[in-house]
Amino acid sequence: MTKVRELIKIDPELCTGCERCKDVCPVNAIFGKKGEPHKVESSRCVFCGHCVQICSGYSSVLDEPDTPRAEKLRERGMFESTTEPLFAAYCAGDALEVAAALKTDKFSMVQCAPSVRVAIGEDFGMPAGSLTPGKMAAALRRIGFDRVYDTNFAADLTIMEEGHELLARINSDATLPMFTSCCPAWVRFMEQHYSDLLPHLSSCKSPQQMSGALFKTYGADIDGKAREEIYSVAVMPCTCKKYESARPEMSMEGYRDVDAVLTTRELAYLIREAGIDFTSLPDEDFDRPLGTYTGAGNIFGVTGGVMEAALRTAYELVSGEPVPDTDLLFVRGGEGTRTASITIKDKTFKVAVVAGLKYVAPLLEKVRAGEADVDFVEVMCCPSGCISGGGQPKVLLPTERDDVYMCRRKSIYSHDKDAKIRKSHENPDVQKAYADFLGEPLGHTSHKLLHTTYTKRDI
Ligand code: SF4
Ligand code: SF4
Repeated sequence: MTKVRELIKIDPELCTGCERCKDVCPVNAIFGKKGEPHKVESSRCVFCGHCVQICSGYSSVLDEPDTPRAEKLRERGMFESTTEPLFAAYCAGDALEVAAALKTDKFSMVQCAPSVRVAIGEDFGMPAGSLTPGKMAAALRRIGFDRVYDTNFAADLTIMEEGHELLARINSDATLPMFTSCCPAWVRFMEQHYSDLLPHLSSCKSPQQMSGALFKTYGADIDGKAREEIYSVAVMPCTCKKYESARPEMSMEGYRDVDAVLTTRELAYLIREAGIDFTSLPDEDFDRPLGTYTGAGNIFGVTGGVMEAALRTAYELVSGEPVPDTDLLFVRGGEGTRTASITIKDKTFKVAVVAGLKYVAPLLEKVRAGEADVDFVEVMCCPSGCISGGGQPKVLLPTERDDVYMCRRKSIYSHDKDAKIRKSHENPDVQKAYADFLGEPLGHTSHKLLHTTYTKRDI
């Protein structure tokens, strides 16, 4: 059995035993007595980072804990120059490793998830939800990445693959309902607790992994590089994406799709360490072709977004007609479970969106009992979707949390609304990737690079 990296840790010197982390942990992976240091059980943990976001036990730069601050920073994978408070619950980081790799002669390619661009500005004093894709692209170039690509391209690609997979399952009476597989914490939960239902998970890799697989094949070919020359980095709002990238299934012929994952906060550390003034950067574009994206790719960052993007495309693929209204408001919303039906030509599709891992068990029990009346289900571990991920800038005051998430959500939707193209199947560079390299959705090359398998995991 592959050893799981202990990604989420609690520093016993800083933990006050307040138990706030226990209250938000969706899988009861935190143990300890009130008032005493707590511990994370890694085999049970789904690495969502909710405890990291909520933790309030900390030491400031002025405190003198038993273990010197410099040592604590090193253990956390943070630069010695970091002056922010160190909280008891933290995610082991990779900023030092990435900074070192960027000094080698590797050809580096980076991708950024949709919700990073609506949050990173907060780490530089900008208002909550500031939309900064152009500054982020500029910062990544100045840090030293050779190609600045975008996970949103692969979000569009995911819709092509997942949409075709859903239609193929419906047309062949195969296993339904089909569940989305973009959220690695949700996938890990299924593997730990509902392994008998794994055939219900879409075989599509997440956008992060699809991007990485393309960097080392299609992307490498475009730049005339060999696969081993590419260093593939992902910037994500999610701590669990580090776990996902290290899964043995997420590599091909010995090459990992993604070599390192940085959270949004870690990217901010790198930007600061490089002495870049983020707020005064000019807006720059992502590189083509793997940085071209539509509005549909961007809404993956909020709960209901994958479903909405999939339905925009499924409607047009099935009916051959334009979707009457691109804004599918009936799948939007917040924490909890919502259901809807959509009729396309003479077929009615039943869908469900589950926002928050703690709400999914009743539906899974129905699926187990053969009583679930639904075709397609989106599940996200984080109650507001990736905008509230464990790797995002920390909202220090619990009373401000909802407002901050609302601002980030608004920015995601306005970025979609302002996009020239808002449907994944109309992304010209996705179409070109199929024409030049991938062949067709669910075809041989797609299957090899963009799809995966799942495994039962013991707790
Ligand atoms: S990362 Fe998530 S699952 Fe793991 S201990 Fe923290 S809250 Fe629980
Ligand atoms: S890890 Fe943080 S939130 Fe959890 S008990 Fe310790 S101080 Fe409290």
